[in-house]
Amino acid sequence: MAMKLSLGDKVELKKTHPCGSKIFEITRVGADIKLKCDGCGRVIMLDREVAEKRIKKIL
Ligand SMILES: [Zn+2]
Repeated sequence: MAMKLSLGDKVELKKTHPCGSKIFEITRVGADIKLKCDGCGRVIMLDREVAEKRIKKIL
């Protein structure tokens, strides 16, 4: 079952970003998911499938 991801949601990833934060904000939802790091502001783009595997939980 697909994870329900909405724009503006904060999520916790399984892996810590190099800056030390695990919290990201969803800034785009589609075939790709864009996540903005809460710690350093960097944006990463992932396939939805990959994103769902990396997300530990929706906050
Ligand atoms: Zn970061």
